[in-house]
Amino acid sequence: MRLENKVAIVTGGASGLGEATAKLFAAEGAKVIIADVLEQEGREIEAEISETGGIGLFVRLDVTDENQWEEVVATAVSRFGKLDALVNNAGISGSDPDMTNTVAWDRLMEINAKGVFLGVKTAIPELRKGGGGAIVNISSISGVIGQEYVHMGYSASKGAVRLLTKSAAVQYAGDGIRVNSVHPGVMDPMRTSKITATSRVRDQMLDSVPLGRVGTRLEVANAVLFLASDEASYITGAELMVDGGFTAN
Ligand code: NAD
Repeated sequence: MRLENKVAIVTGGASGLGEATAKLFAAEGAKVIIADVLEQEGREIEAEISETGGIGLFVRLDVTDENQWEEVVATAVSRFGKLDALVNNAGISGSDPDMTNTVAWDRLMEINAKGVFLGVKTAIPELRKGGGGAIVNISSISGVIGQEYVHMGYSASKGAVRLLTKSAAVQYAGDGIRVNSVHPGVMDPMRTSKITATSRVRDQMLDSVPLGRVGTRLEVANAVLFLASDEASYITGAELMVDGGFTAN
């Protein structure tokens, strides 16, 4: 198993890509903390993981709250003894009908960018104690290119994730901590997607995907698994596109 004896936190683990990642990590032998604001969904996933013989634990976390971050990392240590990996996946969509909405900008930056910073900041001391570890930050193709139907704040937040990843990779390499970003392309819509969930916009976006189809959750989770595992031991500061060639176009 590729994550045997590892302890991992997956934020946004109660839905979508985070759920797929949490389940895959557990299937690969990790003890997984599912950290999310969605309590009922998170507990259901905890139960599903344990039904399949894995070890999962739901912990409520709002990624914008620094105190809650400290509690989640402390729970990983008290329940499972250590922390080896953090996946900063929680996020909200930028498909607000008003592309210049200032409240949306603030919220996007708060959850998608600051939430990742707080996760990195809180996990680093614990990863360092264990002699190293891996952080995988979920950005987006929107962190690399502009998109017509995506709020500027979403692109800015995902661009921030892309570069804070490289910054942390350089700063903590000496501690044996690898930090990489994953950039999903056109996937099933997020819970918070509006315009980009309409068939008109989805069809238009799909026209720009060389592989000609939507990506699956498992295809993203597999990329995250690789970067979190020891197979990626010489990879840090990298940005891995999981976009069917969208950004190669
Ligand atoms: P989703 O809406 O299904 O899942 C997002 C999860 O994040 C939810 O469980 C939600 O409760 C959680 N979350 C939101 N705000 C939170 C907060 N403040 N604290 C803790 N948890 C919070 O969407 P998804 O498609 O699974 O998206 C996962 C990640 O992938 C996001 O970062 C998203 O930006 C990124 N992404 C998604 C797509 C896509 O098309 N679905 C494409 C590129 C990137």
